[in-house]
Amino acid sequence: MRHRICLIFIAIKSSKLDYGFIPILFMLFRKKIIIFVGLVLGGFLILLYSSFIFRIETDQVIYQYDVNILLYISISLFIVVLILVGRLMKAFAKAQQSLQDLQKFKLAVDNASDCISITDKDGIILYVNGGMEKITGFKPEEVLGKKIGSKDLWGGDMSLEFYQKLWTAIKTKKQKFSVEFNNHRQNGEEFVAAVSISPILDEAGEVKFFVSIDRDITVVKRIDLAKTEFVSLASHQLRTPLTFVKWYSEMLLNDDVGPLGKDQRDFTQEIYNSNERMIDLVDSLLDVSRLDLGTLKIKGAPTDILKAIKDLIKDVGPLMIKKKVKLIEKYDRPLPIIELDKRLFFVIIQNLLTNAIKYSKMGGEIILEIKCDGAANVLIKVADKGCGIPIKDQARIFDKLFRADNARKIEPDGNGLGLYIVNSVVKQCQGKFWFESKENAGSTFYISLPIKLPKK
Ligand code: ADP
Repeated sequence: MRHRICLIFIAIKSSKLDYGFIPILFMLFRKKIIIFVGLVLGGFLILLYSSFIFRIETDQVIYQYDVNILLYISISLFIVVLILVGRLMKAFAKAQQSLQDLQKFKLAVDNASDCISITDKDGIILYVNGGMEKITGFKPEEVLGKKIGSKDLWGGDMSLEFYQKLWTAIKTKKQKFSVEFNNHRQNGEEFVAAVSISPILDEAGEVKFFVSIDRDITVVKRIDLAKTEFVSLASHQLRTPLTFVKWYSEMLLNDDVGPLGKDQRDFTQEIYNSNERMIDLVDSLLDVSRLDLGTLKIKGAPTDILKAIKDLIKDVGPLMIKKKVKLIEKYDRPLPIIELDKRLFFVIIQNLLTNAIKYSKMGGEIILEIKCDGAANVLIKVADKGCGIPIKDQARIFDKLFRADNARKIEPDGNGLGLYIVNSVVKQCQGKFWFESKENAGSTFYISLPIKLPKK
């Protein structure tokens, strides 16, 4: 900067153009404000200088003043034109760069393996990439201008309710919607697509377009199904021998075949306990595979919830004694008779209670609370003051097989299936399941169940 000012000063001193040259030199600066100040200052000096000469000199001086003004104007115009041309060239280079970027981007989208489509706000297809033909078999010219997801294209295989929910989410609520679709290809073959649809809004916040990205997950789904079926089959096959081990070890422990010595009794008890754990695991695996295959049937019957809970508490009694845990029970009275699948209700509450005991400190305290939640629901709350769930793990706690590290340390035995089962079953009953937890402070799990099971 200082360097430039010196240059200006020398230029003025050595030039024959006097003060008229100042504004021109100021244009060398990039900042608009400096150019502006230069123009104003220079113009002012010219006027001052020339009017001074005008007053005291002859006609010859007036002539010199005119030359100065003309020179000033023409050089200023020249520089302005130079600046404008420079700017135009810059803008042109930028536009060319953007065009190249856009072409690269289009090439990438056109050739992506996923199907990418853009529709207007009513779902009329405006653009589809090459991935669409690979997945659906339709050529772009066969689908452009048609309604996306219609029966004559690759859609229309889901229920009316499903499509209503989808349109409400993306068009009315303007939210992103990610879901799995059952679709069909042009040759009639069925396929499953993981679809994510995003509304694109204009400045006024109104939907302008929808962008949809569809991935063909048919093969993944098939493998998943094969795995689930295998787990289901293996669990069924394991159930029978495990039941035999249970019966025979019970008979031994009951001295049905003669009295056992101390060591014999201890060893048989170990066999019995390990077998019980194995039965629990196999039962959980069976429930998970039934849930995943959609074959888990919920058979509701009017149930006295308090009586069911009391049976359950008896069941977890030995674990509570072992951990010296105190159970505080709080129930609204009277509680409504509720339509329940007793076995599944047992599975749900047993999971929550055993978790609360397992993850509590020795001699801890657990609160079990049941109250009416409005006229149509019952709220069940299980609270403990145990190890809690670290924040970083809370989002994954309902995932199949997930166990938090702090829980693994306290209780190495566990399979990470319990909460997955609870969450899936409660969802199937159209109830709600959630929790609050703080690491090293405790956890509270809540279930809100409808008094009447939803009609299928
Ligand atoms: P498991 O208890 O066999 O590991 P669950 O599915 O029942 O499997 O629980 C999944 C995970 O959730 C547990 O491993 C543990 O990390 C966490 N969790 C569940 N209940 C509690 C609880 N009451 N306190 C602390 N962590 C819990």
